Amino acid sequence: MTKTLTTALKQKDLPILIQRDGFVCLYCSDPLGRDYIFDHLDDNRFHNDIENLALAHQSCNIKKASNYDLKIIAQEKIKQNEEMPVKFIEDRTATENLPSEIEINKTLYNFTKKYIYERVNTDGSIPYADALNETVYLCQEKFGHGSEQTIRRYINQLTCGVAEFQIIKDDKDQKQIVKRKLNWKDTRQTYKQFLKCLLDIEDATNEEGKNWINKRGDSFEGDLQFIAVRFVRYYCPLLFTFKLKQAPTQTPVAIYRLLEEYSKLFGKSQTTKKEICDDKFATLHKHTYGK
Ligand SMILES: [Zn+2]
Repeated sequence: MTKTLTTALKQKDLPILIQRDGFVCLYCSDPLGRDYIFDHLDDNRFHNDIENLALAHQSCNIKKASNYDLKIIAQEKIKQNEEMPVKFIEDRTATENLPSEIEINKTLYNFTKKYIYERVNTDGSIPYADALNETVYLCQEKFGHGSEQTIRRYINQLTCGVAEFQIIKDDKDQKQIVKRKLNWKDTRQTYKQFLKCLLDIEDATNEEGKNWINKRGDSFEGDLQFIAVRFVRYYCPLLFTFKLKQAPTQTPVAIYRLLEEYSKLFGKSQTTKKEICDDKFATLHKHTYGK
């Protein structure tokens, strides 16, 4: 063989090598990132049989040139590869050790969602291009998977008409991902409920969460947690007991998304105001009045 390893060959061999050895470096066993290379185990770069290839860090590959121990590892690996032909391993691991495509997709999707969620929560928005590039980079580093095309698809899903985020153009005509704005109808409903919650303050001395309210002369000074508890209390049974769902075309009400996110914290009986006052709901309180 007189050809060096072409890009086409690499593309064909990469999934086979990952299946056979995992996405780790042959020499140091650490996970690989973007800097992996195709190591020719016998150091002949024209010998491209799959048995003579393994994935490794570039730095470990360079070290091998002058390191006897690493050369031994390479020789052992050739022997092992020849004894255990790829076809056999492929069949075996396909059903056992390897995460299925579905699992990988789920992991990448969830990671993309979480990353955008955190960035938008912290900064208010994230430029579309940054979201795409950073997520692709982090997915590759973390999981060894996630093409630009795949992540782009996920971001499109996360910003579609019924999703939590939306894409807007800023004054420089750059695409930004932001939290979806509630439409006017939703907003009206939300404020109506919010005002009802405020009425509770009047009687705050006897109410759950009264520690969040201070009376100063004629006015009340209060932590928004007090309102959040009532707000959550109102929407809990709607969602959990009556399973009220919105029409799928409507913009999701923020509180429903929140409650679903925190649904594990709610037992069946845990919908009293007193229980929602509990510290374990503190993050939910914060998110509720943050929206
Ligand atoms: Zn290495």
